[in-house]
Amino acid sequence: MQNEFTRSLYNGDEFTVTYELVPGQGSGGRRVDRLLAFAEKAKADGRIKALSITDNPGGHPALAPVAIGSDVRERGMEPLIHFSLKDKNRNQVESHLFHYHRQGFANLLVLGGDFPRPGYHGQAKPVFDLDSVQTLRLMRDMEEGTYQKYFGSRRPAFTPISCNRGCVVSPFKVAEPEQVWQYAKLLKKIEGGAQFIITQLGYDICKFEELIRFMRDNGLTVPVLGNVFVPSPAVAGYMLRGKVPGIVFPELLANIIEEEGRNSDRESRLIRAAKMICVLKGLGFSGVHLGGNGLRFDDVRFILDTAEELTPHWDELRRDIHFPVPGTWYLYESARPEACGEKRSPLAPGRLHSRQYGHKIAHEFFFSPPKPAGRLFGGLCLLCARTRKSTAILRTIEKWIKGFLFHCLMCGDCTLVELTYICPQSGCPKNLLNGPCGGSRHMTCEVHPDRYCYWVRVYNRVARSSTPELLGRTPFLPPRDWTLDRTSSWINYFSGRDHCRLDLTRKEK
Ligand code: SF4
Repeated sequence: MQNEFTRSLYNGDEFTVTYELVPGQGSGGRRVDRLLAFAEKAKADGRIKALSITDNPGGHPALAPVAIGSDVRERGMEPLIHFSLKDKNRNQVESHLFHYHRQGFANLLVLGGDFPRPGYHGQAKPVFDLDSVQTLRLMRDMEEGTYQKYFGSRRPAFTPISCNRGCVVSPFKVAEPEQVWQYAKLLKKIEGGAQFIITQLGYDICKFEELIRFMRDNGLTVPVLGNVFVPSPAVAGYMLRGKVPGIVFPELLANIIEEEGRNSDRESRLIRAAKMICVLKGLGFSGVHLGGNGLRFDDVRFILDTAEELTPHWDELRRDIHFPVPGTWYLYESARPEACGEKRSPLAPGRLHSRQYGHKIAHEFFFSPPKPAGRLFGGLCLLCARTRKSTAILRTIEKWIKGFLFHCLMCGDCTLVELTYICPQSGCPKNLLNGPCGGSRHMTCEVHPDRYCYWVRVYNRVARSSTPELLGRTPFLPPRDWTLDRTSSWINYFSGRDHCRLDLTRKEK
């Protein structure tokens, strides 16, 4: 697994630089030629340790990252393949992992990905069979050889495969519920086997600092690369209008970039990027992940040269490049200089919704087998499971009740009790089970901007004292078992077929 990127990344004395390449549609042409010319120059320069290659960015189809990855490697650069889950089911995920291992692609950045956009004959089917936490665990199981235990003797064993696994986090969420979940999910990703982290793009230096402090406070030593994105005036305007999922672009910076564009001043934004590199280095980041539309290698060389000159003065530079979004919530009040804006808001209300309270009591009454009512109800469900007719009747009753109360879609593997009695199958368009995606904006969903993000709603139902650490310890939910689709989750629960693996004869869940 040792390569130029990992050697640099896990060497505490080195500051690692990566750069993001974005393939477009088509298998060749000028765009691909430009990317490969960039790779050749990067190799000659020697300061960039890996070229990351996006995987259907923005939810649009594009040249597969492995294709560009092979070309990049031929030119002597280490590829960092984005491993996005929006278009792959779990079997395809495994298949890709075998493929990448065989081809020697050792660095993968695991991410959910933007919701698929309309393609050939309309909207592409969003897959999201596994979330990033589940995928990281799958990779770890494949590496440790523990993968097989989920199949018994049904599948032949294979030689364990390993890779350098990265994940992403956004410290730039504006609202408290989104931000707390981002950190909580980060803990789950690291616990699931993530070995390095790349941040979402952002321009709030206090937020970069917050992430580093969060890592230190939690004893996390996983290397973090800060995202340094250099937007063109057009892209800055696009982001300001909220067109890129999960990005809240600071208006002040957008105005500055627009003014620079009018004056054909290209250099200022490159210098700003160089200053960001210096500050992130000073704050303790292990490296930076550079990117920007329309950047030539000469621009990147200029950024890196300027950063080398400015590094000793990093502390004085932070004011020049600090662009917070007004109203942003910060995890640590003490880390927030006055420039950062408003006071920390109180923690979420944590109201135990009266309906939620009722569901909780009902759940404990009917679904705790050691209690008489639970044993009776469990026995009834198992009795119904004996014939097709009684199974169908019970399933219809369940569908009516849970459809009315929870907008249940009858997935057959119910997670309502773990997720504050809000259904993730109907509530989250990506059906995520272990925390939100990064696509929410001002607490609203990436896919349905007229609705709150499902995880914001969950957050508003959890206890008042919720912290990332607390939420990060919430139970890991495994991928949904599709053999249970449209079956009775009550029967599946009592017969031990769902994720709870209840054994009615031995103990309570
Ligand atoms: S509900 Fe939240 S987590 Fe789900 S897709 Fe929308 S923004 Fe992402």
